[in-house]
Amino acid sequence: MCGIFGIEGREDAANHVYLGLYALQHRGQESTGIVAWDGARIGLERGMGHVAEVFPAEVIARLAGRRALGHTRYSTSGSSVVENAQPIVVTTSMGPIGIVHNGNLTNALTLRKRLEAEGSIFQTTSDTEVILHLMARNPRAELVDSLIVALTEVEGAYSLLVITAQGLIAVRDPHGFRPLAMARLAGPNGIATCFGSESCAFDLLGAELERELEPGEVVLVDGTERRSYRIPVAGTPRRCAFEHVYFARPDSVVFGDPVGEVRRRLGAQLAREAPAAADIVVPVPDSGLFAALGYSRESGLPFEFGMTRNHYVGRTFIEPRQSIRNFGVKVKLNPVRALIRGKRVVLIDDSIVRGTTSRKIVGMMREAGAAEVHLRISSPPTAWPCYYGIDTPRRSELIAAQKSLEEIRAFVEADSLAYLSVDGLLASLSGPRASYCTACWTGDYAVPIAGEDRRQAELFPAESDLP
Ligand code: AMP
Repeated sequence: MCGIFGIEGREDAANHVYLGLYALQHRGQESTGIVAWDGARIGLERGMGHVAEVFPAEVIARLAGRRALGHTRYSTSGSSVVENAQPIVVTTSMGPIGIVHNGNLTNALTLRKRLEAEGSIFQTTSDTEVILHLMARNPRAELVDSLIVALTEVEGAYSLLVITAQGLIAVRDPHGFRPLAMARLAGPNGIATCFGSESCAFDLLGAELERELEPGEVVLVDGTERRSYRIPVAGTPRRCAFEHVYFARPDSVVFGDPVGEVRRRLGAQLAREAPAAADIVVPVPDSGLFAALGYSRESGLPFEFGMTRNHYVGRTFIEPRQSIRNFGVKVKLNPVRALIRGKRVVLIDDSIVRGTTSRKIVGMMREAGAAEVHLRISSPPTAWPCYYGIDTPRRSELIAAQKSLEEIRAFVEADSLAYLSVDGLLASLSGPRASYCTACWTGDYAVPIAGEDRRQAELFPAESDLP
């Protein structure tokens, strides 16, 4: 997963992007980069690590101009190299282009093989570069038209920002898998336009959220002039429901719904579907916090901060090796023994992927003296890999694809276990049910993945990179 942010029409644009990326750091911690257009050239700075590490003031100062965009990247170990850090910048017959991408293309490898056979030379192993090659082969008088032609060939999930001499371009794929919103930032010299993965980035800058891009929409901004285009490809909206369950920040508004509020509704629904005879409700911080609040209010059971999180440790899931992941949970989470001892605990988390975290946490509760541990999960069983940008492992590693509910309960050593139903989840979101992607729970893939791309995804499902 990744976070993207851009701004058009503000002095010191790179500094604003830096702040926007800071607010989107939760969407990717591995590498980050910013490009800025100063009216004559595109400047690029990128590196491995967090936004604050890669961009000390002197590095930001090298990026002049009123137009800039940036990226925070999340990926697994195999592709963790600076060459794959975005933005990707190229020079074409239409001028320089810099691009950032959140999502995952499902036909990138097929396209890449074709382009290579026709003579293209790729600089990175990232799927995003395919879009640039398709553009370079289809030059148009207006660069945005060349981009739209390229996008009629790519499939899958993409929210994009593109910087060019002609303007800043924002794109959401025809299914709108990943979020992308637009905001206005008032300043002494007029209104600037911002684009970002989540609205929490606008809050930090004091920008006002205007709207999300529509699925299939392309917006070009040059100064204060804005134009909207459509990708001429049919597609019904399939917005990623997992953004609401886990990925987005609770203070963001995503797909028109406030994320924290949705999580509370998920928790309340879970309490209705799967009540437990218990004394306290304890969230797994931070992923289970809001759902636990909802569960507590609906069930009437008291909410307790029965577990503390060390905030100076990265997300457990990022560690690629099983041995480190096991250790990581303990480094990150510790029970508050005085609250747990002798209690029947309802433990709330957002999801179970491999089961490693849940098993550790249930064990911690028992070691802390819990009388019973009832595990409740505020989403349905994750049984299918995501091909649209969420890092889920292959099916053989997804515990819900391999074991029954009772077997999972036994594996995590809980007294009882229940997940939220797909219906209950969709009822907690304000949009029409069919407008959400639920593939990771149902296997219902709106965009199929075939051929080389499918083989690659099955070998390295958590990587959006090509070999
Ligand atoms: P596991 O130990 O594999 O079952 O990991 C489950 C934990 O990872 C849950 O507590 C989730 O909050 C978190 N999680 C779920 N999906 C993801 C993801 N795609 N990226 C990072 N963390 C995740």
